[in-house]
Amino acid sequence: MNIHEYQAKALLKGYGAPVAEGVAILSADDAAAAAKQLPGPLYVVKSQIHAGGRGKGKFKELGPDAKGGVRLAKSIDEVVAHAKDMLGNTLVTAQTGEAGKQVNRLYIEDGADISRELYCSLLVDRSVGRVAFVVSTEGGMDIEAVAHDTPEKIHTIAIDPETGVTAEDVAKISAALALEGVAVEDAKSLFPALYKAFNEKDMALLEINPLIVMTNGHLRVLDAKVSFDGNALFRHDDVRALRDETEEDSKEIEASKWDLAYVALDGNIGCMVNGAGLAMATMDIIKLYGKEPANFCDVGGGAGKEKVAAAFKIITADPKVEGILVNIFGGIMKCDVIAEGVIAAVKEVGLKVPLVVRLEGTNVELGKKLLNESGLAITAADDLDDAAKKIVAAING
Ligand code: GDP
Ligand code: MG
Repeated sequence: MNIHEYQAKALLKGYGAPVAEGVAILSADDAAAAAKQLPGPLYVVKSQIHAGGRGKGKFKELGPDAKGGVRLAKSIDEVVAHAKDMLGNTLVTAQTGEAGKQVNRLYIEDGADISRELYCSLLVDRSVGRVAFVVSTEGGMDIEAVAHDTPEKIHTIAIDPETGVTAEDVAKISAALALEGVAVEDAKSLFPALYKAFNEKDMALLEINPLIVMTNGHLRVLDAKVSFDGNALFRHDDVRALRDETEEDSKEIEASKWDLAYVALDGNIGCMVNGAGLAMATMDIIKLYGKEPANFCDVGGGAGKEKVAAAFKIITADPKVEGILVNIFGGIMKCDVIAEGVIAAVKEVGLKVPLVVRLEGTNVELGKKLLNESGLAITAADDLDDAAKKIVAAING
């Protein structure tokens, strides 16, 4: 689960991290009052969407020459003008996809005078089984490009969970970031605080890009992106309360209610599969035959009829879907149960696109019999390859 920058900053502030003062607003009418609460004379007006790259992003409605989704302002009037310009419009960034995201909320922040922009993130480094700091002096820009072109500029410092962030770790991180003077002192409290926040809140990623050294020498968290581990959300009421469902795919929200592993994708073949590995293989084979999957959907090993029907409904509700491939291996889950779920869902929501079903495993004959006798236009397939060919052929007409 992701949260907005302003929420991430409030959370980190609670752990003692240095962040600017700021006010989140939903209407341009509130922009002046928000800015008046800040010291000035420099303000930043920041689009709050669940995607990065806002600064370099472009608003669909404003044309290529308009400024991006993060703007500096030198007066309250300018803050108001930017707010009017940005709110309600669609911001397209390198991370939003072509469709972009509507900006419904702005964060008006006290502007900082920047001396250096650094990169600092915390993540779970699976290769060492530890939470690690990933830092670079090359912050503020596309960190993927830095990692690709100049990997030696990225430093990873893994933290021993027994000790937490030690003085030695802080020294290593500070050296990697070439910190000096008061920033070195700031670092002594900042890095342990970030680690504490990461662990206590079960984060999956905490990315600060940029972490800045201000002209007065102090550190400040200028941008913050936080993703939480979805499997740990049950133990964080406060984190769940930060969820902004308007930022999430409605199909994914519905899927999460049914505990379905569902990820919306850009293609047009809807997939319903059990088991993540089989789901990946199904997506691969669809691509092999020249089409793209509309989603990843793992209904899980023990799904019942209702869950199968729910998954089917979510897949058919996607207007991009031109055909559906159900690929189930009945191990724990029986093929006849799948067949019943599919039939029930088709009867309820109707079937407007071709449906190919490949069943294998426990009670496969009974499952196939149910499908054949359902009177519905369902194409049965013998194996994965056959299934992929049939659905692609059906779509290609
Ligand atoms: P992102 O583009 O979505 O990553 O948004 P950021 O919050 O990282 O802001 C983008 C860029 O705007 C930063 O890298 C800075 O260069 C600039 N910026 C943001 N806040 C300030 C500020 O307070 N002062 C100054 N001078 N620049 C800022
Ligand atoms: Mg940033």
